[in-house]
Amino acid sequence: MNRLAGKVAMVTGAGRGIGAAIALAFAREGARVALAELDIGTARETAERIGEETGANVIAVETDVTQSASVKEAVAQTEAALGPLDVLVNNAGINVFCDPLTMTDDDWRRCFAVDLDGVWNGCRAVLPGMVERGRGSIVNIASTHSFKIIPGCFPYPVAKHGVIGLTRALGIEYAPNNVRVNAIAPGYIETQLTLDWWNSQADPKAARQATLDLQPMKRIGEPREVAMTAVFLASDEAPFINASCITVDGGRSALYHD
Ligand code: NDP
Repeated sequence: MNRLAGKVAMVTGAGRGIGAAIALAFAREGARVALAELDIGTARETAERIGEETGANVIAVETDVTQSASVKEAVAQTEAALGPLDVLVNNAGINVFCDPLTMTDDDWRRCFAVDLDGVWNGCRAVLPGMVERGRGSIVNIASTHSFKIIPGCFPYPVAKHGVIGLTRALGIEYAPNNVRVNAIAPGYIETQLTLDWWNSQADPKAARQATLDLQPMKRIGEPREVAMTAVFLASDEAPFINASCITVDGGRSALYHD
């Protein structure tokens, strides 16, 4: 349980869902962890719970990933409290699912502000320190929407395709500095985000069942299953994995049809 012993990590959007599961898994593996979250109340509650459960040093820092100054400040606060960052997980994300031609300009900007600018703001804030220290691991939470399209989900997949491009470009730029940049592409994972989507459908129960029926493993994923992959990529067990993306979807995106 010491795969991240001595490391300092920051996870964005870690108040709940996949981000909270990643923060918990990191703390269990011995990391000191900052939960960088828009809703500081939720972040504090989650940080306290994780700290009590693991005994790790876990803090909450108020962060809006859409604002580069806010992310820079969160990095500064984290490093002052916990030490230089070894790991950043850019996890914060929102679903913006529209029809392309009825979508508003605001929907487009809201989606890109969180789902792509947010990832870049995180990378830009930690890269100078990681490059200077000659070590670091950045893990960007992409999606199976990064390489597959579901009609009616525009422009979320456009932003998530961008996350893969950003991951590959930065992974190559900073490889000589021993800074690895990778992505994880989750499929359906049981979080508030997924529940909200089912609940927005005319028949939420039927929508949930329809999702399950599409899964090769006849279930959707759990946040901790994404978190275990993040631990691997963040750790020293993955020193030659760079500019890559690991899919965590139970095989769903490999399936053509039944
Ligand atoms: P949740 O909605 O459960 O959690 C997202 C977290 O991000 C929330 O705590 C939210 O805070 C926070 N957040 C939103 N906007 C910002 C912001 N501007 N700055 C800082 N924090 C913010 O989502 P999931 O855990 O399901 O998703 C996490 C990531 O995984 C996202 O990038 C998502 O796209 C991706 N993903 C999820 C899948 C799934 O099936 N769940 C599948 C594929 C990818 P608040 O509540 O205060 O808004």
